Amino acid sequence: MARSITLRGETDLDGFRAACRQLIADQVEPAHVSWFVAGGAEADLFAAEAEPAVDAREGAPAITIPPAFLTLIKSVLLHSEAKRFGLLYRLIWRLQREPGLRHDPLDADVIEAQHLSQAVRRDMHKMKAFVRFRRIETAKQPTQHIAWFEPGHHIVEAVAPFFARRFTAMHWAILTPERCVRWDGAALEFSPGAARDQAPPADAGERLWLTYYEHIFNPARLKLAMMQKEMPRRYWKNLPEAVLISPLAARAAERSAGMIAQAPSEVARRVPAASLPLRRPPLGPVTAAPTDLASLRTAIDRCRACPIGAAATQGVTGEGPLGARLMVVGEQPGDQEDLRGRPFVGPAGQLFDRALAELGWARGALFITNAVKHFKFELSVGLRGQRRIHKTPSQQEAAACLDWLEHEIAIVQPTALIALGATAARALLGASVAVTRERGQWLARGDGRRVLVTLHPAALLRMAPAEQDAAFAAWVGDLAHAAPFAATSSDPVTGQ
Ligand code: URA
Repeated sequence: MARSITLRGETDLDGFRAACRQLIADQVEPAHVSWFVAGGAEADLFAAEAEPAVDAREGAPAITIPPAFLTLIKSVLLHSEAKRFGLLYRLIWRLQREPGLRHDPLDADVIEAQHLSQAVRRDMHKMKAFVRFRRIETAKQPTQHIAWFEPGHHIVEAVAPFFARRFTAMHWAILTPERCVRWDGAALEFSPGAARDQAPPADAGERLWLTYYEHIFNPARLKLAMMQKEMPRRYWKNLPEAVLISPLAARAAERSAGMIAQAPSEVARRVPAASLPLRRPPLGPVTAAPTDLASLRTAIDRCRACPIGAAATQGVTGEGPLGARLMVVGEQPGDQEDLRGRPFVGPAGQLFDRALAELGWARGALFITNAVKHFKFELSVGLRGQRRIHKTPSQQEAAACLDWLEHEIAIVQPTALIALGATAARALLGASVAVTRERGQWLARGDGRRVLVTLHPAALLRMAPAEQDAAFAAWVGDLAHAAPFAATSSDPVTGQ
Protein backbone atom coordinates (compact mmCIF):
# COMPACT_ATOMS: atom_id res chain seq x y z
CA MET A 1 0.00 0.00 0.00
CA ALA A 2 1.21 3.50 -0.81
CA ARG A 3 2.48 5.58 2.04
CA SER A 4 2.94 9.30 2.24
CA ILE A 5 5.47 10.86 4.56
CA THR A 6 5.46 14.55 5.34
CA LEU A 7 8.59 15.79 7.06
CA ARG A 8 8.52 18.94 9.15
CA GLY A 9 11.25 20.66 7.19
CA GLU A 10 13.90 20.19 4.52
CA THR A 11 16.45 19.06 7.08
CA ASP A 12 14.16 17.10 9.42
CA LEU A 13 16.61 14.31 10.22
CA ASP A 14 14.68 13.11 13.27
CA GLY A 15 11.46 12.90 11.30
CA PHE A 16 13.18 11.09 8.46
CA ARG A 17 14.76 8.61 10.87
CA ALA A 18 11.46 7.93 12.67
CA ALA A 19 9.61 7.47 9.37
CA CYS A 20 12.25 5.04 8.07
CA ARG A 21 11.95 2.95 11.21
CA GLN A 22 8.20 2.79 10.87
CA LEU A 23 8.30 2.00 7.16
CA ILE A 24 10.88 -0.77 7.65
CA ALA A 25 8.87 -2.18 10.55
CA ASP A 26 5.77 -2.18 8.32
CA GLN A 27 7.74 -3.70 5.43
CA VAL A 28 6.78 -0.86 3.07
CA GLU A 29 8.77 -1.11 -0.14
CA PRO A 30 10.58 2.04 -1.28
CA ALA A 31 8.61 2.21 -4.51
CA HIS A 32 5.43 2.67 -2.48
CA VAL A 33 6.55 5.66 -0.44
CA SER A 34 6.06 9.31 -1.40
CA TRP A 35 8.00 11.95 0.47
CA PHE A 36 6.94 15.53 1.13
CA VAL A 37 8.11 18.46 3.17
CA ALA A 38 5.56 20.39 5.22
CA GLY A 39 4.79 23.76 3.67
CA GLY A 40 6.13 22.70 0.24
CA ALA A 41 3.75 23.04 -2.74
CA GLU A 42 3.95 19.34 -3.50
CA ALA A 43 3.09 18.40 0.04
CA ASP A 44 -0.13 20.40 -0.22
CA LEU A 45 -1.10 19.09 -3.65
CA PHE A 46 -0.42 15.41 -3.29
CA ALA A 47 -0.07 14.52 0.38
CA ALA A 48 -3.79 13.83 0.82
CA GLU A 49 -3.90 11.41 -2.12
CA ALA A 50 -1.57 8.76 -0.75
CA GLU A 51 -3.05 7.07 2.30
CA PRO A 52 -2.42 6.38 5.03
CA ALA A 53 0.14 8.99 6.07
CA VAL A 54 2.81 7.97 8.53
CA ASP A 55 3.37 10.20 11.52
CA ALA A 56 7.07 10.79 11.30
CA ARG A 57 7.26 11.13 15.11
CA GLU A 58 6.00 7.64 15.93
CA GLY A 59 8.35 5.27 17.71
CA ALA A 60 9.34 2.05 15.93
CA PRO A 61 12.04 -0.59 16.32
CA ALA A 62 15.55 0.69 15.63
CA ILE A 63 17.18 -0.21 12.33
CA THR A 64 20.83 -0.92 11.75
CA ILE A 65 22.84 1.52 9.68
CA PRO A 66 26.66 1.35 9.51
CA PRO A 67 28.27 4.59 10.80
CA ALA A 68 29.77 5.49 7.40
CA PHE A 69 26.31 5.31 5.85
CA LEU A 70 24.89 7.41 8.64
CA THR A 71 27.33 10.19 7.78
CA LEU A 72 26.41 9.84 4.11
CA ILE A 73 22.70 9.97 4.91
CA LYS A 74 23.04 13.08 7.07
CA SER A 75 24.89 14.88 4.33
CA VAL A 76 22.60 13.76 1.44
CA LEU A 77 19.57 14.93 3.43
CA LEU A 78 20.88 18.49 3.04
CA HIS A 79 20.77 18.30 -0.76
CA SER A 80 18.14 20.34 -2.56
CA GLU A 81 16.92 17.47 -4.80
CA ALA A 82 13.47 16.23 -3.69
CA LYS A 83 14.38 12.71 -4.80
CA ARG A 84 16.94 12.43 -2.00
CA PHE A 85 14.42 11.06 0.55
CA GLY A 86 13.37 8.25 -1.79
CA LEU A 87 16.98 7.43 -2.63
CA LEU A 88 17.99 7.32 1.03
CA TYR A 89 15.03 5.21 2.07
CA ARG A 90 15.82 2.79 -0.78
CA LEU A 91 19.41 2.53 0.47
CA ILE A 92 18.26 1.94 4.05
CA TRP A 93 15.72 -0.65 2.89
CA ARG A 94 18.37 -2.45 0.86
CA LEU A 95 20.93 -2.30 3.69
CA GLN A 96 18.58 -4.33 5.85
CA ARG A 97 18.48 -7.04 3.17
CA GLU A 98 21.88 -6.75 1.46
CA PRO A 99 24.54 -6.27 4.15
CA GLY A 100 27.23 -6.44 1.42
CA LEU A 101 25.89 -3.16 -0.04
CA ARG A 102 28.05 -1.16 2.29
CA HIS A 103 31.14 -2.59 0.57
CA ASP A 104 29.92 -2.11 -2.98
CA PRO A 105 31.40 1.08 -4.40
CA LEU A 106 29.87 0.40 -7.83
CA ASP A 107 26.26 0.20 -6.73
CA ALA A 108 24.21 2.83 -8.60
CA ASP A 109 22.32 4.00 -5.49
CA VAL A 110 25.52 4.31 -3.47
CA ILE A 111 27.20 6.24 -6.28
CA GLU A 112 24.25 8.60 -6.63
CA ALA A 113 24.18 9.23 -2.86
CA GLN A 114 27.89 9.96 -2.90
CA HIS A 115 27.45 12.48 -5.71
CA LEU A 116 24.73 14.29 -3.80
CA SER A 117 26.85 14.25 -0.66
CA GLN A 118 29.83 15.68 -2.53
CA ALA A 119 27.70 18.52 -3.88
CA VAL A 120 26.54 19.33 -0.34
CA ARG A 121 30.07 19.30 1.04
CA ARG A 122 31.24 21.54 -1.79
CA ASP A 123 28.40 23.98 -1.06
CA MET A 124 29.30 24.02 2.65
CA HIS A 125 32.89 24.73 1.78
CA LYS A 126 31.87 27.58 -0.53
CA MET A 127 29.65 29.08 2.15
CA LYS A 128 32.54 29.07 4.60
CA ALA A 129 34.74 30.75 2.00
CA PHE A 130 32.35 33.22 0.37
CA VAL A 131 30.17 34.64 3.12
CA ARG A 132 30.97 38.36 3.25
CA PHE A 133 29.87 40.21 6.37
CA ARG A 134 29.01 43.88 6.27
CA ARG A 135 29.35 45.95 9.37
CA ILE A 136 26.36 47.83 10.80
CA GLU A 137 26.99 50.42 13.47
CA THR A 138 24.07 51.20 15.71
CA ALA A 139 23.95 53.61 18.60
CA LYS A 140 22.24 51.24 21.00
CA GLN A 141 23.47 47.78 20.09
CA PRO A 142 26.93 46.32 19.71
CA THR A 143 28.28 46.42 16.14
CA GLN A 144 26.42 43.90 13.99
CA HIS A 145 27.82 42.02 11.00
CA ILE A 146 25.28 40.94 8.42
CA ALA A 147 25.86 38.76 5.37
CA TRP A 148 23.68 37.70 2.49
CA PHE A 149 24.35 34.29 0.97
CA GLU A 150 22.54 32.00 -1.45
CA PRO A 151 23.49 28.41 -0.77
CA GLY A 152 22.67 25.75 -3.32
CA HIS A 153 21.46 23.29 -0.67
CA HIS A 154 19.92 23.22 2.79
CA ILE A 155 23.19 23.80 4.60
CA VAL A 156 22.65 26.83 6.85
CA GLU A 157 22.13 24.88 10.07
CA ALA A 158 25.05 22.59 9.31
CA VAL A 159 27.50 25.43 8.60
CA ALA A 160 26.35 27.88 11.30
CA PRO A 161 28.45 26.30 14.11
CA PHE A 162 31.56 26.91 11.98
CA PHE A 163 30.82 30.67 11.93
CA ALA A 164 30.01 30.65 15.65
CA ARG A 165 33.44 29.16 16.37
CA ARG A 166 35.25 31.41 13.92
CA PHE A 167 33.54 34.67 14.90
CA THR A 168 32.71 34.02 18.53
CA ALA A 169 33.34 37.58 19.62
CA MET A 170 31.23 39.19 16.89
CA HIS A 171 27.48 39.62 16.71
CA TRP A 172 26.54 38.42 13.26
CA ALA A 173 23.69 37.18 11.11
CA ILE A 174 23.69 35.31 7.83
CA LEU A 175 20.56 35.86 5.76
CA THR A 176 19.63 33.39 3.03
CA PRO A 177 16.44 32.97 1.00
CA GLU A 178 15.42 29.87 2.93
CA ARG A 179 16.86 30.17 6.42
CA CYS A 180 18.58 32.83 8.49
CA VAL A 181 20.89 32.38 11.41
CA ARG A 182 21.93 34.88 14.06
CA TRP A 183 24.75 34.70 16.62
CA ASP A 184 24.61 37.05 19.62
CA GLY A 185 27.93 35.98 21.10
CA ALA A 186 26.32 33.17 23.10
CA ALA A 187 23.82 31.16 21.05
CA LEU A 188 22.73 30.47 17.50
CA GLU A 189 19.17 31.35 16.59
CA PHE A 190 17.52 30.21 13.36
CA SER A 191 14.62 31.92 11.63
CA PRO A 192 12.81 31.74 8.26
CA GLY A 193 14.44 33.02 5.07
CA ALA A 194 14.87 36.68 4.15
CA ALA A 195 14.99 38.83 1.03
CA ARG A 196 18.25 40.05 -0.39
CA ASP A 197 17.42 43.70 0.20
CA GLN A 198 17.25 43.00 3.94
CA ALA A 199 21.05 42.66 3.84
CA PRO A 200 22.97 45.93 4.14
CA PRO A 201 24.89 47.64 1.31
CA ALA A 202 28.70 47.88 1.18
CA ASP A 203 30.54 49.52 4.07
CA ALA A 204 33.72 51.54 4.26
CA GLY A 205 35.85 48.55 5.18
CA GLU A 206 34.69 46.77 2.09
CA ARG A 207 35.53 49.73 -0.13
CA LEU A 208 39.04 49.78 1.28
CA TRP A 209 39.36 46.09 0.60
CA LEU A 210 38.09 46.51 -2.97
CA THR A 211 40.68 49.18 -3.65
CA TYR A 212 43.33 46.86 -2.36
CA TYR A 213 42.00 43.92 -4.41
CA GLU A 214 42.13 45.97 -7.57
CA HIS A 215 45.55 47.19 -6.67
CA ILE A 216 47.04 43.73 -6.17
CA PHE A 217 45.29 42.17 -9.17
CA ASN A 218 47.97 41.06 -11.61
CA PRO A 219 46.51 40.20 -15.04
CA ALA A 220 49.66 38.37 -16.09
CA ARG A 221 49.04 35.92 -13.28
CA LEU A 222 45.35 35.41 -13.93
CA LYS A 223 44.28 31.77 -14.18
CA LEU A 224 40.63 32.24 -15.03
CA ALA A 225 39.71 28.55 -15.24
CA MET A 226 41.24 27.88 -11.82
CA MET A 227 39.59 30.97 -10.39
CA GLN A 228 36.16 29.92 -11.67
CA LYS A 229 36.67 26.43 -10.33
CA GLU A 230 37.45 27.78 -6.89
CA MET A 231 34.95 30.62 -7.04
CA PRO A 232 32.09 29.49 -9.33
CA ARG A 233 30.14 32.25 -11.06
CA ARG A 234 26.94 31.56 -9.15
CA TYR A 235 28.61 32.97 -6.02
CA TRP A 236 29.94 36.09 -7.71
CA LYS A 237 26.83 38.21 -7.36
CA ASN A 238 27.23 38.25 -3.59
CA LEU A 239 30.98 38.76 -3.51
CA PRO A 240 32.04 42.40 -3.31
CA GLU A 241 35.30 41.70 -5.12
CA ALA A 242 33.40 40.06 -8.00
CA VAL A 243 32.41 43.47 -9.39
CA LEU A 244 36.09 43.86 -10.14
CA ILE A 245 36.81 40.34 -11.34
CA SER A 246 34.78 40.50 -14.56
CA PRO A 247 36.23 43.74 -15.94
CA LEU A 248 39.70 42.94 -14.70
CA ALA A 249 39.55 39.43 -16.12
CA ALA A 250 37.99 40.58 -19.40
CA ARG A 251 40.90 42.85 -20.10
CA ALA A 252 43.63 40.73 -18.58
CA ALA A 253 44.81 39.05 -21.79
CA GLU A 254 44.87 42.30 -23.75
CA ARG A 255 46.64 44.12 -20.94
CA SER A 256 49.17 41.36 -20.42
CA ALA A 257 50.00 41.48 -24.14
CA GLY A 258 50.33 45.23 -23.87
CA MET A 259 52.58 44.82 -20.88
CA ILE A 260 54.91 42.54 -22.82
CA ALA A 261 54.94 44.83 -25.86
CA GLN A 262 55.40 48.02 -23.91
CA ALA A 263 58.77 49.03 -22.60
CA PRO A 264 58.67 49.78 -18.87
CA SER A 265 58.14 53.47 -18.33
CA GLU A 266 60.85 55.39 -16.56
CA VAL A 267 59.82 56.31 -13.07
CA ALA A 268 60.60 59.93 -12.32
CA ARG A 269 63.68 60.07 -10.11
CA ARG A 270 64.35 62.75 -7.57
CA VAL A 271 68.11 62.05 -7.35
CA PRO A 272 70.04 62.12 -10.64
CA ALA A 273 71.49 58.64 -11.19
CA ALA A 274 74.91 60.00 -12.13
CA SER A 275 75.40 61.48 -8.70
CA LEU A 276 74.72 58.21 -6.91
CA PRO A 277 77.46 56.07 -5.45
CA LEU A 278 77.11 52.45 -6.56
CA ARG A 279 77.30 51.14 -3.05
CA ARG A 280 76.34 52.56 0.25
CA PRO A 281 79.46 53.76 2.04
CA PRO A 282 80.45 51.22 4.70
CA LEU A 283 78.79 52.14 7.97
CA GLY A 284 80.87 52.28 11.03
CA PRO A 285 79.65 52.84 14.54
CA VAL A 286 76.52 54.88 14.79
CA THR A 287 78.46 58.02 15.72
CA ALA A 288 80.17 58.00 12.30
CA ALA A 289 76.88 57.99 10.49
CA PRO A 290 74.08 60.51 9.98
CA THR A 291 73.09 62.04 13.27
CA ASP A 292 69.94 63.81 12.19
CA LEU A 293 66.94 62.78 10.15
CA ALA A 294 67.64 65.17 7.28
CA SER A 295 71.11 63.75 6.56
CA LEU A 296 69.81 60.24 7.14
CA ARG A 297 67.14 60.88 4.51
CA THR A 298 69.72 62.00 1.96
CA ALA A 299 71.95 59.00 2.70
CA ILE A 300 69.06 56.55 2.43
CA ASP A 301 67.88 58.09 -0.80
CA ARG A 302 71.28 57.56 -2.35
CA CYS A 303 71.80 54.05 -1.06
CA ARG A 304 72.48 51.41 -3.71
CA ALA A 305 73.65 48.61 -1.40
CA CYS A 306 71.03 46.43 -3.05
CA PRO A 307 69.26 46.71 -6.41
CA ILE A 308 65.91 48.00 -5.08
CA GLY A 309 66.93 51.62 -4.73
CA ALA A 310 67.74 52.02 -8.42
CA ALA A 311 64.13 51.37 -9.50
CA ALA A 312 62.30 53.24 -6.73
CA THR A 313 61.28 56.89 -6.95
CA GLN A 314 62.95 57.79 -3.71
CA GLY A 315 64.04 56.40 -0.39
CA VAL A 316 61.34 56.63 2.29
CA THR A 317 62.71 57.53 5.68
CA GLY A 318 60.59 57.30 8.80
CA GLU A 319 58.59 60.24 10.08
CA GLY A 320 57.62 61.41 13.51
CA PRO A 321 59.08 63.40 16.39
CA LEU A 322 62.59 62.88 17.74
CA GLY A 323 62.24 61.27 21.12
CA ALA A 324 58.96 59.54 20.19
CA ARG A 325 58.43 56.91 22.87
CA LEU A 326 57.04 54.41 20.39
CA MET A 327 58.53 53.52 16.99
CA VAL A 328 56.39 51.51 14.57
CA VAL A 329 58.31 49.55 11.95
CA GLY A 330 56.71 48.17 8.77
CA GLU A 331 58.20 46.16 5.94
CA GLN A 332 58.92 48.54 3.08
CA PRO A 333 57.21 51.50 1.41
CA GLY A 334 54.43 50.62 -1.04
CA ASP A 335 53.49 52.33 -4.29
CA GLN A 336 51.88 55.37 -2.64
CA GLU A 337 54.65 55.71 -0.08
CA ASP A 338 57.28 55.58 -2.81
CA LEU A 339 55.57 58.36 -4.75
CA ARG A 340 54.88 60.56 -1.75
CA GLY A 341 58.09 59.83 0.16
CA ARG A 342 56.16 59.12 3.37
CA PRO A 343 55.60 55.81 5.21
CA PHE A 344 52.18 54.21 5.61
CA VAL A 345 50.07 56.54 3.48
CA GLY A 346 48.61 53.88 1.10
CA PRO A 347 45.96 51.20 1.79
CA ALA A 348 47.98 49.51 4.56
CA GLY A 349 48.51 52.94 6.11
CA GLN A 350 44.78 53.64 6.00
CA LEU A 351 44.11 50.43 7.87
CA PHE A 352 46.80 51.39 10.36
CA ASP A 353 45.11 54.78 10.78
CA ARG A 354 41.81 53.01 11.48
CA ALA A 355 43.52 51.00 14.20
CA LEU A 356 44.99 54.22 15.66
CA ALA A 357 41.52 55.78 15.66
CA GLU A 358 40.16 52.74 17.46
CA LEU A 359 42.98 52.91 20.01
CA GLY A 360 42.66 56.65 20.38
CA TRP A 361 46.36 57.09 19.65
CA ALA A 362 47.84 60.17 18.01
CA ARG A 363 49.73 59.26 14.83
CA GLY A 364 51.78 62.42 15.19
CA ALA A 365 53.30 61.18 18.45
CA LEU A 366 54.61 57.96 16.89
CA PHE A 367 57.73 57.51 14.82
CA ILE A 368 56.63 55.44 11.83
CA THR A 369 59.15 53.80 9.57
CA ASN A 370 60.07 50.67 7.64
CA ALA A 371 62.71 47.95 7.79
CA VAL A 372 63.47 48.41 4.08
CA LYS A 373 63.68 51.96 2.79
CA HIS A 374 62.94 51.60 -0.92
CA PHE A 375 59.89 50.20 -2.70
CA LYS A 376 60.46 46.82 -4.34
CA PHE A 377 57.97 46.10 -7.13
CA GLU A 378 57.32 44.36 -10.41
CA LEU A 379 55.56 46.03 -13.30
CA SER A 380 52.12 44.86 -14.26
CA VAL A 381 49.25 46.15 -16.37
CA GLY A 382 45.81 46.76 -14.87
CA LEU A 383 42.66 48.54 -15.96
CA ARG A 384 44.20 51.88 -15.17
CA GLY A 385 47.39 51.22 -17.11
CA GLN A 386 50.80 50.16 -15.95
CA ARG A 387 51.05 49.37 -12.25
CA ARG A 388 53.77 48.58 -9.81
CA ILE A 389 52.96 45.53 -7.73
CA HIS A 390 54.62 45.10 -4.36
CA LYS A 391 57.28 42.36 -4.11
CA THR A 392 58.54 41.13 -0.78
CA PRO A 393 62.18 42.09 -0.26
CA SER A 394 64.64 39.21 -0.05
CA GLN A 395 66.53 38.64 3.17
CA GLN A 396 69.71 40.04 1.59
CA GLU A 397 67.87 43.20 0.55
CA ALA A 398 66.42 43.59 4.03
CA ALA A 399 69.87 42.98 5.53
CA ALA A 400 71.33 45.71 3.31
CA CYS A 401 68.94 48.18 4.96
CA LEU A 402 69.56 47.09 8.55
CA ASP A 403 71.99 49.86 9.36
CA TRP A 404 69.58 52.54 8.19
CA LEU A 405 66.99 51.31 10.65
CA GLU A 406 69.55 51.18 13.44
CA HIS A 407 70.54 54.77 12.65
CA GLU A 408 66.93 55.82 12.88
CA ILE A 409 66.63 54.15 16.27
CA ALA A 410 69.85 55.82 17.41
CA ILE A 411 68.58 59.23 16.29
CA VAL A 412 64.98 58.95 17.52
CA GLN A 413 65.74 57.02 20.73
CA PRO A 414 62.34 55.35 21.16
CA THR A 415 61.58 53.55 24.41
CA ALA A 416 59.74 50.70 22.72
CA LEU A 417 59.02 49.47 19.20
CA ILE A 418 56.28 47.68 17.32
CA ALA A 419 57.27 45.27 14.55
CA LEU A 420 54.54 44.99 11.92
CA GLY A 421 55.17 41.65 10.23
CA ALA A 422 58.04 39.23 9.83
CA THR A 423 60.45 41.49 7.92
CA ALA A 424 60.28 44.17 10.62
CA ALA A 425 60.53 41.62 13.43
CA ARG A 426 63.62 40.02 11.90
CA ALA A 427 65.23 43.40 11.29
CA LEU A 428 64.62 44.57 14.86
CA LEU A 429 65.39 41.33 16.68
CA GLY A 430 68.16 39.93 14.50
CA ALA A 431 66.51 36.55 14.03
CA SER A 432 63.44 35.25 12.30
CA VAL A 433 60.29 35.42 14.41
CA ALA A 434 57.17 33.27 14.02
CA VAL A 435 54.79 36.24 13.96
CA THR A 436 51.55 34.27 14.25
CA ARG A 437 52.92 32.53 17.35
CA GLU A 438 54.60 35.54 18.98
CA ARG A 439 52.02 38.18 18.09
CA GLY A 440 50.90 40.36 20.98
CA GLN A 441 54.13 39.52 22.88
CA TRP A 442 56.93 41.81 23.93
CA LEU A 443 60.37 40.50 22.89
CA ALA A 444 63.70 42.01 23.90
CA ARG A 445 66.29 43.50 21.55
CA GLY A 446 70.02 43.37 22.15
CA ASP A 447 69.97 47.04 23.24
CA GLY A 448 67.36 46.26 25.89
CA ARG A 449 64.49 47.94 24.06
CA ARG A 450 61.27 45.98 23.93
CA VAL A 451 59.62 45.03 20.65
CA LEU A 452 55.94 44.19 20.37
CA VAL A 453 55.41 41.82 17.47
CA THR A 454 52.19 41.67 15.45
CA LEU A 455 50.85 41.22 11.92
CA HIS A 456 51.48 43.62 9.08
CA PRO A 457 48.27 45.47 8.05
CA ALA A 458 48.66 44.17 4.48
CA ALA A 459 48.22 40.66 5.85
CA LEU A 460 44.77 41.71 7.08
CA LEU A 461 43.93 43.29 3.74
CA ARG A 462 44.77 40.04 1.99
CA MET A 463 42.34 38.04 4.15
CA ALA A 464 38.87 37.11 2.97
CA PRO A 465 36.48 39.88 4.03
CA ALA A 466 34.56 37.41 6.18
CA GLU A 467 37.65 37.13 8.34
CA GLN A 468 38.74 40.74 8.32
CA ASP A 469 36.63 42.16 11.12
CA ALA A 470 37.68 39.53 13.62
CA ALA A 471 41.30 39.78 12.43
CA PHE A 472 41.21 43.57 12.72
CA ALA A 473 39.84 43.36 16.26
CA ALA A 474 42.58 40.89 17.23
CA TRP A 475 45.21 43.11 15.62
CA VAL A 476 44.03 46.18 17.52
CA GLY A 477 44.15 43.98 20.62
CA ASP A 478 47.82 43.22 19.91
CA LEU A 479 48.67 46.88 19.35
CA ALA A 480 46.90 47.87 22.56
CA HIS A 481 49.73 46.25 24.54
CA ALA A 482 51.86 49.23 23.56
CA ALA A 483 49.35 51.76 24.93
CA PRO A 484 51.63 52.79 27.82
CA PHE A 485 54.07 54.20 25.21
CA ALA A 486 51.51 55.90 22.97
CA ALA A 487 50.06 59.38 23.34
CA THR A 488 46.30 59.62 23.09
CA SER A 489 44.82 61.69 20.29
CA SER A 490 43.59 64.26 22.81
CA ASP A 491 47.08 64.61 24.30
CA PRO A 492 47.76 68.38 24.63
CA VAL A 493 51.50 67.78 24.08
CA THR A 494 51.03 66.43 20.55
CA GLY A 495 48.43 69.06 19.73
CA GLN A 496 46.25 66.44 17.97
N1 URA B 1 53.69 48.74 4.00
C1 URA B 1 54.76 48.96 4.80
O1 URA B 1 55.33 48.05 5.37
N2 URA B 1 55.16 50.19 4.93
C2 URA B 1 54.61 51.22 4.36
O2 URA B 1 55.06 52.33 4.54
C3 URA B 1 53.48 50.98 3.56
C4 URA B 1 53.03 49.72 3.38
